[in-house]
Amino acid sequence: MHHRLLKNSSSFALPLILLVAAYLVLPRISSLPPSWQMNLISAPYIIFATLLLLSFHFNRGRIFCVSLLLGAAYWSYRAYLLQGLVDFRAGMIYQALAILLPVNITLFCFLRERGILTSAGRLRLAFLASQVAMVAWFVRYNYVEVQQFIGRELVSSDFLERFLLPQTALFLFLAGGVLIAVKLLISPSPLLSGMFGALLALAISCNWLTTEHLVPLFMGTAGLLLVISVLQESHNMAYRDDLTSLPSRRALNEQLMGLGRQYAIAMLDVDHFKKFNDTYGHDVGDQVLRMVASRMQAVGGGGRAYRYGGEEFTILFPRKRLADATAHLEEVRRSIADYQMKIRSAERPKDGQEGKKQRGAGNGDQTVSVTISIGVAECCDGSPTPETVIKAADQALYRAKQKGRNQVCT
Ligand code: GH3
Ligand code: MG
Ligand code: MG
Repeated sequence: MHHRLLKNSSSFALPLILLVAAYLVLPRISSLPPSWQMNLISAPYIIFATLLLLSFHFNRGRIFCVSLLLGAAYWSYRAYLLQGLVDFRAGMIYQALAILLPVNITLFCFLRERGILTSAGRLRLAFLASQVAMVAWFVRYNYVEVQQFIGRELVSSDFLERFLLPQTALFLFLAGGVLIAVKLLISPSPLLSGMFGALLALAISCNWLTTEHLVPLFMGTAGLLLVISVLQESHNMAYRDDLTSLPSRRALNEQLMGLGRQYAIAMLDVDHFKKFNDTYGHDVGDQVLRMVASRMQAVGGGGRAYRYGGEEFTILFPRKRLADATAHLEEVRRSIADYQMKIRSAERPKDGQEGKKQRGAGNGDQTVSVTISIGVAECCDGSPTPETVIKAADQALYRAKQKGRNQVCT
């Protein structure tokens, strides 16, 4: 568990690195030629437009909305906030941004992806448009009360006085950041990591609004982080299996091209899985596949696990001999066979005969277990292609099944 949290915390690396880079670049911008400084002003628009097109192309509704939000925020900044918070209008627009940016970014992190031109997607776009209309309304009719409400002091603190951001906004940014960080630690994704970085960048932009060059630089960084996250997500879609989050067969095929002269390949298949599905239902079947995949991922000896398809997996051992690989595979086989998986009683089958057979003594919960069969082959000096090695491993797998399953054959 701790190990996983530690691993997941690497999702913070890219956002933090880019933000620190932006911070280091900031004081050097003034010494750039004026034409470059001009480019910096339009750079965020170009980045947001790229983000808009990318998210449209990949039908990423949440990022699409956020790119519109960022575009609108940056445009408002350029149109009304360049001189700072000089009048009611500037103050109102500033407060609206400081409240709406963290609220929306956090919200979109917790909403499910529903596409762009779907009814849910359109509803979200309408939701954003209504916010713009509301702010315009407040500005047009001088709603001083709104501004007083947002700007009021929640706690009296000298430290908080130092921030330009109103306390309400500060709190919203902080709460959003914590929520996204927790979600990111539990179930990391490129999207969340990009959103986390964007939220930080926006908080910095809002608070140091009048620092020269800061807003375009940090809002551009926010957009860039989101562009990277969309590209990463679409890459993952192609190369990662959704159910088990193992690399997919496509990823395996690419690895196979770059193998050296010595390697071993194992094919693994869950035993009697059709029957397991029939007994416990497809959902429990999926849960088992996830468990099996995570055990395979923990294989030693530098082995790399892939989901070959369905309930079939592949483990690749670069630079390993058959005997070494076999020992590690035996360990994987045993760890899966020994694993007693608890399934929640809600997922219990409708009292089929098979279901009763394996039900544990526990109160309502039951445990299930599965076994796997493994066939393994190595690349010898006759230099066969990876395809022939896979074929040989497949034949070995067939023998393992013939001999009674739950074993490794070479
Ligand atoms: P054997 O021991 O000979 O391998 O028996 P088996 O029942 O596992 O044989 P087979 O390979 O024909 O069965 C594969 C079954 O795996 C068919 C399908 O119901 C199930 N399956 C394939 N992909 C998935 C999946 O993504 N989720 C679930 N729940 N089941 C899957
Ligand atoms: Mg099979
Ligand atoms: Mg099977």
